[in-house]
Amino acid sequence: MTELVVISGKGGTGKTTVVGALAALARGKVLADCDVDAADLHLILRPRVQKTIGYEGSELAAIDPELCTGCGECQRACRFEAVIAEDGRYRIDPLSCEGCGACAHACPVGAISMKPRLSGWIHVSSTPYGTLVHGELRPGEEASGKLVTQVKRRARELGRLEGARLLLVDGAPGIGCPVIASLSGAHAALVVTEPSRSALHDLSRVVEVAHQFRAKPFLVINKADLSPALSEEIEAYARAAGLVLLGRIPYDEGVVRAQVAGRTAVEDGDGPAARALRSLWERLAAELEPR
Ligand code: SF4
Ligand code: SF4
Repeated sequence: MTELVVISGKGGTGKTTVVGALAALARGKVLADCDVDAADLHLILRPRVQKTIGYEGSELAAIDPELCTGCGECQRACRFEAVIAEDGRYRIDPLSCEGCGACAHACPVGAISMKPRLSGWIHVSSTPYGTLVHGELRPGEEASGKLVTQVKRRARELGRLEGARLLLVDGAPGIGCPVIASLSGAHAALVVTEPSRSALHDLSRVVEVAHQFRAKPFLVINKADLSPALSEEIEAYARAAGLVLLGRIPYDEGVVRAQVAGRTAVEDGDGPAARALRSLWERLAAELEPR
């Protein structure tokens, strides 16, 4: 099963538009939404949740009142002001606790234990385009590589069970832990960029990360006609960096209309962006060898 991850140097470059279009065009695939901080793929893929699994991404300290002597060492050790003293008794504020474990280490009588904390959920959903695995974080929880890894692991398992040829992953933007986890084990990375100075800067960083993971990097320039000069510059960079440029997607209001209607860009008419996305998939499919 070939693993293709769609990434971008930063958010807002049209990555979800590209993933949605590929989801509609590719056959025999399983989908994984690893952009858990801004999981908006579900808006156009219309998933129906079939199964939900709790995700324990962090820990929470718990004080055993039977063992606690009230010495206050835990409060002094906590940098997050999560240990509260009330009437000589100590308790943990779950909203402030970061799960670092310093209090448990400091407690002289072993009254503090670390418990797994529910940080979110992993959903397995059916969509008109195939099975989708996606994560959801509880409010206040940060996206982590661990959640992305679990989303991908489950998507791989389901892909094997379904005999899928492709695992299509919507990766996190940027170069932090979530994108590194998205790229781990990937065969190919499609980088979506746009013609702006900041996007060009972010592009070089994300391509470096893709190279480190030995994922073959491909490039597509979204809204390329908004700055032909910068698009030329990006193409020159791509040639120098060994990136395969798969195409340019023109600015097209049809993309926004499709999104508002809850459809992928290739299902809503035959505008210039839809045509460019179809041709992008044809070129990409030819490049991806079955594994
Ligand atoms: S685990 Fe860390 S953050 Fe939580 S109460 Fe203990 S010291 Fe404070
Ligand atoms: S360090 Fe341990 S014994 Fe001391 S107040 Fe905290 S929980 Fe109680």
